Amino acid sequence: MENKKITLAYGGGGEETNKLIKELFYENFKNDILIKAEDAAVINLNGKTAFTTDSFTIDPIFFNGGDIGKLSIAGTCNDLAMMGAKPEYLSISFMIEEGLDFEDLEKIVKSISKELKKADARIVCGDTKVVPAGSVDKIFINTSGVGSIKKENISAHNIKPGDKIIVSRDIGRHGSVVLAKRFGVDTDIESDCKVLCEEVNALIEAGIDIKAMRDATRGGLSAVLNEWAEASNVAIEIEEEKIPISDEVKGLCEIFGFEPMDLANEGTFILAVENKGAKKAEEILKKFNNNASIIGEAIEGKKVILKTSYGSKRYIDLPKGELLPRIC
Ligand code: MG
Repeated sequence: MENKKITLAYGGGGEETNKLIKELFYENFKNDILIKAEDAAVINLNGKTAFTTDSFTIDPIFFNGGDIGKLSIAGTCNDLAMMGAKPEYLSISFMIEEGLDFEDLEKIVKSISKELKKADARIVCGDTKVVPAGSVDKIFINTSGVGSIKKENISAHNIKPGDKIIVSRDIGRHGSVVLAKRFGVDTDIESDCKVLCEEVNALIEAGIDIKAMRDATRGGLSAVLNEWAEASNVAIEIEEEKIPISDEVKGLCEIFGFEPMDLANEGTFILAVENKGAKKAEEILKKFNNNASIIGEAIEGKKVILKTSYGSKRYIDLPKGELLPRIC
């Protein structure tokens, strides 16, 4: 395209919009359903289906390890995967600020296409709006998705005393990357942002009796464990020294006074499994990331309890307030 900036005309529904849709979106998201360009996509789904939606407003739109496009696919596909579903069909809506560099939009679209392939999912419908400068910041994206359930009865309400809690990799990366960029700190930390379908598929194929799964996005590990303790009416006790955290994330948290357990992740999930399958689940996850670790277990009671490396115990609460706006 000859225009270097996105103008209001691209969202006007006329020639420029058509050009944008055909030359950029169709070209990169191409599939039989999408290119029919009907008013609604007609899809075929059999049996139990998971359905989710998410909006992405992250600032900055490009970050170490990803961008808003990759995030918009990972976010929605991971929520489906966490319910034991294989992501099938997605919708995508772009809200673009007039003046966005065309090249940036192109990069985001290519990144979406790449992540979609990893999830083996398809975008079958979408929408584009361009709004006057100042109405949104660069670009906001909404994605919704449906997926067919491959393993039933995965739920935050299922956890029983004795079940083990596993984290799929080291925590706090995505939050740290955004934090560093926001405060102008130079860091090599990469966001964990990615689709988790392969990991989840491997667990299901191996016959792991998954009780609950949740991606530790906003509110991080602390939020997931507190939500689970409440939903399943159990206490969850975790051991500080078993929680994988990279030195870089630890260092950054020390500087800014953040708690790694409260920081957002975008490609890290927590798993509750029956004791007997826990070791096997950990081994499977270690093949994807060697930092996967059994960090604790559910016990009778309420609350989330952290056993520190000194042997003392303290409660972990839900993170309070807005830690970091526009992190996803
Ligand atoms: Mg989630």
